[in-house]
Amino acid sequence: MTTLKQLNTPQQNALGATIVAWAEQLGTLSEDQHGLTCTYMTATHRATAIHLAQWMREAGMHAHIDAVGNVVGRFLSTDPQARTLITGSHYDTVRNGGKYDGRQGILTAIAVVKHMNDKGISLPFHLEVIAFAEEEGVRFKSTFLGSSAVIGQFDPELLELKDRDGILLRDVLAEAGQDLSSIDAIARDPSDLLGYVEVHIEQGPVLLDKGLPVGIVSSIAGSRRFQVEFKGVASHAGTTPMALRKDAATAAAEILLYVEQRCAQDQESSLVGTAGQLHVPNGSVNVIPGACHFSLDIRAANNAARDAAVADIMAKIETVCQLRHIEYTVEQVAEAGCAPCAPWLMAQLSSAVERAGVAPFQLASGAGHDAMLMSRVTDVAMLFTRCGNGGISHNPLETLSPQDADIAARILLDFLRHFKPKPARPATRSAKLSSPAEPATQEYTE
Ligand SMILES: [Zn+2]
Repeated sequence: MTTLKQLNTPQQNALGATIVAWAEQLGTLSEDQHGLTCTYMTATHRATAIHLAQWMREAGMHAHIDAVGNVVGRFLSTDPQARTLITGSHYDTVRNGGKYDGRQGILTAIAVVKHMNDKGISLPFHLEVIAFAEEEGVRFKSTFLGSSAVIGQFDPELLELKDRDGILLRDVLAEAGQDLSSIDAIARDPSDLLGYVEVHIEQGPVLLDKGLPVGIVSSIAGSRRFQVEFKGVASHAGTTPMALRKDAATAAAEILLYVEQRCAQDQESSLVGTAGQLHVPNGSVNVIPGACHFSLDIRAANNAARDAAVADIMAKIETVCQLRHIEYTVEQVAEAGCAPCAPWLMAQLSSAVERAGVAPFQLASGAGHDAMLMSRVTDVAMLFTRCGNGGISHNPLETLSPQDADIAARILLDFLRHFKPKPARPATRSAKLSSPAEPATQEYTE
């Protein structure tokens, strides 16, 4: 078995060094003079796409930019009838973001294909690398524009969205020379897909804390978001005795502490709860808060754990508000189901991690990723890589070491070369006769 120590020799870090150098180079293309900003369909964004397409071609892929700006590279199998495995991630960024969020997954795939192409290695399936044009939702406040088109769920009403300068998405695409009438044609045929695998920087501190370069994602958390409004009575801070108050803010404080305590109880399910917005409208230093508005974001690796926490929090709101004579309204503003990763893909990823000399470790993803959308049409898996600097992301301080980039690339390469399509379900005799056999796979040595 190749040990981690062997993998860390300078020569073996070649893939990682390439990935980091490419990320640095793309990071110099920015809408801002200081920091990295690459939002949907700006000149920066389009220049980034052209770079990616060029690197894909140099790596031996057929590359094109589709009607929503996704950069698609295909590394073709020698078997023209073969089905397709997709890998990739997004190339847009938040404002003043990091160089690796999203891009690492794209650049890792390109580096791995280039390596295979240089060594004359072919695969028994088509490998498609997709650099998704939009995931973050920064410019048009709508996330996953790229992957929604790939799964055939791009909502045409989105074309009427405006950016902060009042420019329509429809006009932005037309001006960039994109053919709006061919957006529907981007949709992949699910029966052609073998699965989707995404390499992504963790964007959190778990792997750093565990001392591990990579981890296997078990599930992408589903979230529920609420806007909560408490209404008490605004009265004089000096003349109203403590026992006679209807203070909306202290009632909210009680709920916030409960959310923290309740969500700490189910770490197994990666349950987390956050009140990111907290507001006393028209608050004044000498007035008891008559109103308090706050947001809630509850996430977990499975819907049952998340919903159980939400039910407990709603019951707590009811009890506290009754005791404190507070009126309240709760509005659910968003809900996304969790996307579990496919056990058969996770098992193959785990084996590749183990062969790299790394202990396979599973973790849930608290953040949404393109894999979440892809899971609607095919089985998905994700490999997280260690995020340096305390796990900070969506920030220029986000870091990825060339060693970790290299280990992730070697694991993806090894995974692809050992990849076996999903085992067919045990079939009855008659069903077996009528269903086509899974394509044969081979193992390779360099
Ligand atoms: Zn990302």
